[in-house]
Amino acid sequence: MPKPAFWNNAKRYYDLKSYWQNRFGCRVHKLPIDAGFTCPNRDGHLATGGCIYCDGRGSALRQAGEFPSVGEQIRRGKEYYRRRGKAEKFVAYFQTFTNTYAPVDRLKALYDEALAEEDVIGLSIGTRPDCVSDETIALIRSYAERYHVWLEFGLQSIHDRTLRAINRGHDMATFLDAMRRTGNSPIRICTHIIVGLPGESHAEIMETARALAELPIQGIKVHNLLALRGTALGSRYEQGELAMMSREEYVATVCDILEILPPEMVVQRLTADGYREIFLGPEWAANKLTVLNAINRELEARDSWQGKRYGGGE
Ligand code: SF4
Repeated sequence: MPKPAFWNNAKRYYDLKSYWQNRFGCRVHKLPIDAGFTCPNRDGHLATGGCIYCDGRGSALRQAGEFPSVGEQIRRGKEYYRRRGKAEKFVAYFQTFTNTYAPVDRLKALYDEALAEEDVIGLSIGTRPDCVSDETIALIRSYAERYHVWLEFGLQSIHDRTLRAINRGHDMATFLDAMRRTGNSPIRICTHIIVGLPGESHAEIMETARALAELPIQGIKVHNLLALRGTALGSRYEQGELAMMSREEYVATVCDILEILPPEMVVQRLTADGYREIFLGPEWAANKLTVLNAINRELEARDSWQGKRYGGGE
């Protein structure tokens, strides 16, 4: 499959910036919001420890003990990006913890507050596939009929053995059920995966990518596994019990994944954030830019791009 012209970019994958530009004809930025949610995998509803890689600290605002309203967070973010000439329109990104984990009237109040801000054209809501009731989906759908709305599901892997090993607290069937219940709606789905989870082979990672390529998913975030201080995974890393991927392995695997994804799927991320104060390793992951550059170089060396092998094609 040739590189798609509709991307209108010089990249070898369909990144979010290009997608926004094509769709809205201007620069759009996702503004991260901490609306004070918790997570059922941390608050004792399902478990208290959370996923083995999750540090549980929440946003920088929460760590600073500050809790501005949703509207205030958006206004501060808009000012920051406007002053630097980086964005004209904004999507309110409910990012911290599980952003559908509250009664529907509370969710409605928070989402309404975000959408009431000038130049906010939509929502992106990060959540778990076991935290979207039919009522919640109906609410989000009602916004998607009027605004640009993404629902971001943390999945990480399609393999139940891995999901148990990382203490996700849900299985693949739950994700498929959430997908089925959000299907046939204007809600756009973005799925998060992690490459390099303990015990996963390259073949298993590719099974995850292949499964997502076949589902009605419009976006993907690919993260490299990070060992962070204060997490179960971090302790294993510090004790030398954990083999992490090398940068070369990560880069090659990400390129393998990109090649089999549909060309229309928007690639929202290809690295994880560094969390400098609690970052343990792997060392190469501390510099996101070098990882992204290495991915671009590898795609160039292969003369390849996202979707080149989608559907088994050359
Ligand atoms: S679902 Fe998200 S917030 Fe909850 S424990 Fe896992 S990584 Fe942390």
